[in-house]
Amino acid sequence: MTQSPTTPLPADSPHGLAAVEREIAHACKEARRDRASVTLIAVSKTFAADAILPIIGAGQRVFGENRVQEAKGKWPALTQAHPRLQLHLIGPLQSNKAKEAVALFDAIHSVDRPSICQALAKEIESQNKHPQLFVQINTGEEPQKAGVAPQDADTFIAACRDTYGLTISGLMCIPPVDEPPAAHFALTAKIAARNGLKNLSMGMSADFATAIMLGATHVRVGSAIFGTRTVPHN
Ligand SMILES: *Cc1c(COP(=O)(O)O)cnc(C)c1O
Repeated sequence: MTQSPTTPLPADSPHGLAAVEREIAHACKEARRDRASVTLIAVSKTFAADAILPIIGAGQRVFGENRVQEAKGKWPALTQAHPRLQLHLIGPLQSNKAKEAVALFDAIHSVDRPSICQALAKEIESQNKHPQLFVQINTGEEPQKAGVAPQDADTFIAACRDTYGLTISGLMCIPPVDEPPAAHFALTAKIAARNGLKNLSMGMSADFATAIMLGATHVRVGSAIFGTRTVPHN
């Protein structure tokens, strides 16, 4: 039997996975939330199949990658061997990669501009495949970062639905590295609530417990599971 994506993992899981799982369970308890309301996305960017396989072996089923090209080289073999795996694209998407992204990923966390909406709508229709979609909010309004500015979010989310016919499932944010994340998580949750969106992709290795307290439904955790990345990768 394959475990469902949110089944708590055994305590003897390899690497940091067991520790992350314990911390998620603890945060859920503190927040009086059901463990099943939080999906752990194991972010495997830069790690090869030999590092990913033990994590799959421990029961983890949901993985995240931030580059289409890298995922395309790594994941088809893994998903063929483990049919119940789910793959999430958490990094920026270019319109010319929309076709590959829709073919490969079960969820896309980085919807942030009309050209992407248009490209995704076209591929969703032609491939008849419906990845779960998140709109990325640039809560810190950082010029180098992807995402919709908070003040443009309501209009953009409405356009996703009304102009492009996309079903948006939730919002995603990456707080600025040099600021406490809580205000950014709270702002993202507030924008989601007023737009009737249920899912919140927020929280990484350093702050996923805080994110769970503030309503995260999807936490994206890399280094706490796989170890420190030696390859610079953004
Ligand atoms: C790399 C990455 C993560 C995971 O970061 P860690 O600090 O290693 O947990 C989460 N979200 C995004 C968008 C990333 O690119």
